[in-house]
This record gives sequence, structure tokens and C-alpha cells, in this order.
Amino acid sequence: MTDRIIDLRSDTVTRPSFAMRRAMAGAEVGDDVYGEDPTLNRLEQRAAEIFGKEAALFVPTGTMANTIAVKIHTLHGQEVICDSRSHLMDWELAMVAWFAGCLVRPIATEDGILRWSEIKKSVKTASPHRSPTGLIEIENTHNMAGGVVYPIHVINEICHEAHSVGIKVHMDGARVFNAACHLNVPVSEIAANVDTVMFCLSKGLGAPVGSMLLGTAAAIEEGRLYRKRLGGGMRQAGILAAAGLIALEEMPKRLGEDHANARMLAEALSDMPGVKIDPKRVNTNIVIFDVSGTGVKSAEIADRCKANGLRVSTANPTNVRIVTHCDASSKDCERAIEVLRKIL
Ligand SMILES: *Cc1c(COP(=O)(O)O)cnc(C)c1O
Repeated sequence: MTDRIIDLRSDTVTRPSFAMRRAMAGAEVGDDVYGEDPTLNRLEQRAAEIFGKEAALFVPTGTMANTIAVKIHTLHGQEVICDSRSHLMDWELAMVAWFAGCLVRPIATEDGILRWSEIKKSVKTASPHRSPTGLIEIENTHNMAGGVVYPIHVINEICHEAHSVGIKVHMDGARVFNAACHLNVPVSEIAANVDTVMFCLSKGLGAPVGSMLLGTAAAIEEGRLYRKRLGGGMRQAGILAAAGLIALEEMPKRLGEDHANARMLAEALSDMPGVKIDPKRVNTNIVIFDVSGTGVKSAEIADRCKANGLRVSTANPTNVRIVTHCDASSKDCERAIEVLRKIL
């Protein structure tokens, strides 16, 4: 198996485990558009319990969950405040504008973490010339900032202040279980005060398909209609929910392994010539490192890795991105370090 390709481009490349495939094959199903899929109903109920929210909605992708959340909370012509490197703004085909008719109001941050002291400068109420703020969106962990985790008090301050001026808060928690693992707290504590939160069952939790949106019963009831409009009303989706239940119940327990592998990679990289990275800031499963000092573009480094059996991605022309996950063992990550050492 030594010449097997090690794929660290993203945790989206994970494949369903044998246990997931077995559960999928045996899943009890029904028509979910009629609300009659018992496995899917169980997944939504368990997710709501785990997050301490009234209700949950299964959706095919994280992008659809974010799109629905923005639509639930905003009116046409409002603004959505988010970080300037957020997934919502950069990687979702302008769905904020396309579906909800809103404008993104990005705020640049050094570490991906929005703070109320900065947000408040961009919050607006309706006036004859300016569009009002409809929603604040926070990304936890922050993907392009390198898997950065929000301190809980920062989330709570944003929610408290936003709510006091009548603005809702949505958390893009695609990797919120990674945040919970790092902080060693339940996700319910992280998401306690946000109005809606979405997370991905795919990615680090290893399910083949699916994300979930959580919030009040009223918000989720509305969200169900937007999901149908977007073409996300699925029928015997219990096949997917069966894998999702394993992702939800079992997979969070092992995320610490991915975090340890990411830290090991970051520490090794910090000693390589021309590489800039602070391993102390690698707290979850994403490792982003600056290769400007090597004089070689990140895309070229990615190509050289590929030629040596290692797949990595790029965050921009000077930054390489590596993501650890359940299909890459610590041995695989050690092998990845050897390849990187050889190339760099
Ligand atoms: C992956 C991701 C999404 C969207 O998920 P898809 O299922 O790929 O649509 C949203 N936000 C963040 C931070 C992500 O990493």
C-alpha cells in the first residue's frame, strides 16, 4: 500500500465506512417529502437533541444549508455581514445575492474571527440611502483562515449584541464538531445562542452526502419550503440518513486524531526551508502554510506533491492547504511529511 495516493486536499474526499455502507443497505425508508422516512426523521431528531435546538433539516449540501439560512433570516435588499474570507462569500456562487437578494458586507479579519467591536461599525439600520443589516454570519471553524476556532465568549457577545438590535446570527459550522473537539465542549454549548447553525455530515464526519440546518421549529419549517424550492426535497433519503446517523453519533469521537496529525504536519513544516507557519495556530484539521520563501508558487508545489503520490490544495498563489481526515492515518501523514521534505 506504500504507493497508494495520500489525498489531503480536503476532508470532503473521505469515503463512507463499512459500517455506514451496511447501515445504508439495511435502512428503513419512506418518502421524506411526505415526512415519512423513519431513518431521516430519526437523524433530524437526534441532531436537534445534540445541538439543543428545536428542529433540524437534512439537506444535500452545506451550500444549500447556508443558502436557506440566509433566506430565512433576511429580506430582499438587506446586507449580510461576514468575514472577508468566508465560504459564504467566496465559495458559494453568490447564492446570498442569487437566492436571497442580499448584499454581502465583508469585514477583513487577521485570523478569520469576527468580533462585535468590528461588526458594530458595519451594522446599519434602514435609511433613505443605505440598506439595513439583515444577518450576521460566522464561520466556525474558519476554513480559509486555517481551521480557526471561535472562542465561545466571542460568539456569545456577537449574539447578545446582534439580538439587542434585532439582528439574527447564523453559524456556518461546516466543521463545528472539530471546534467542539478542540474546545472539549459539546456542540450545544458552541451553538447555544446562534439562531441557526449548519454542519456537514460529509467532510470530517465521513458521511457520503449531507449537511444539516438547525434552529427554531418555525425557522426549520420555513427552511423546508426553501429546500423544496431549491430542488432539495428528496424521497427515500433515509439511505443517506443511515450513514448520517453514524457520522453524527460515532465520528466526532475520533476527530482528535485528525487534529494531532494536522499539528504533526504543521510542526514538521515549520522546520522546512522557505515555509512559514505557526504550528500553535493549527488547532483543528486544516493546515495552511505560506511558501513564498521557496520562490515556487503553491500550484507548482501541489503539482510536485501529486507527482510524488501526495495530493494537496492551494488556498491562494502563495499558500498551500492540507486537510487531515479519517481516511488518512498518522502513518499516511508521516509519509506526507517525507514527500513535503523532499520537495521543499
Ligand atoms: C464545505 C463548506 C461549506 C459547504 O459545503 P458543501 O457541502 O460543499 O456545499 C460551507 N462552509 C464551509 C466553511 C465549508 O468548508
